[in-house]
Amino acid sequence: MQSRRKPRRENKSPQNLEMMRRAGLLVWEALHRVVAPMIRPGVTTREIDAAVERTFREHHALSLFKNYVPEGTNVPPFPAVTCISINEEVVHGIPGPRQLKEGDIVSIDTGCKLDGWCGDAAYTYPVGQVDPEVRRLLEVTQGVLDLAIGLMATASRWSQVAAEMEKYVKDHGFFVVEAFVGHGIGREMHEDPQVPNFVSDQLKKSGDFALEPGLVIAIEPMVNMGTKRVRTRPDRWTQVTADRRPSAHFEHSVAVTADGPYVLTAAPGKDRPTTSGGIHKSITLGETLNPP
Ligand code: MG
Repeated sequence: MQSRRKPRRENKSPQNLEMMRRAGLLVWEALHRVVAPMIRPGVTTREIDAAVERTFREHHALSLFKNYVPEGTNVPPFPAVTCISINEEVVHGIPGPRQLKEGDIVSIDTGCKLDGWCGDAAYTYPVGQVDPEVRRLLEVTQGVLDLAIGLMATASRWSQVAAEMEKYVKDHGFFVVEAFVGHGIGREMHEDPQVPNFVSDQLKKSGDFALEPGLVIAIEPMVNMGTKRVRTRPDRWTQVTADRRPSAHFEHSVAVTADGPYVLTAAPGKDRPTTSGGIHKSITLGETLNPP
């Protein structure tokens, strides 16, 4: 979920980060322990959303998405706790009666606030067997997120990371979406700074920022197979690719610490990446597509 206005920025203490890790773990649990086993032909996106809503409620967490209205717009409040975007849908798909079918890819984006702190993440799942080129789209999109997280160990400014992300996607023959970007996160879902997955004009002018301990950002590359251009559906939320070819979306909330990046929405025990320095580790299909 993105917004137009990123209201504020606050440096987080190590204690704050431990609170954010709890929110992040709950988001991980919703996406990977609750949603992942539901991904199969025939399940409706509304059933998936209801399961995530139940999970948050059981843990007394608040949804960051339900009733969300982007600042400065008159878009209707978002009606669900997840954004579920299938195939050519890029982001902000609204859950409903649509059933997943064999060969689809489905992006689930969700966020919660637990004890005052936010977590936000997204994962794109294949439904059964998908076309090899679509599978490659998933690998490249997850790969560019992993690349960005790894680079945060050594890069001093976000523009360095963004340039590598842009190059990585281009080198693989795909397109980074430029209409939507990541964001700072903390007590609010959307804080400063804006976190583009490419070297934007805003980044070149005044938007660049230092990767210093206490910074927490949601990094969320959206990668399209055939064009960077997107369109808004008449529901005013769902974004689709202009050419109707597939799109993938992966997101983690990540803190910069003195010991390197801390992935707040990672699986238990996987919050500290083992690679650094921008050497992208080769990802096996099992690792990429079948989370624990
Ligand atoms: Mg986000």
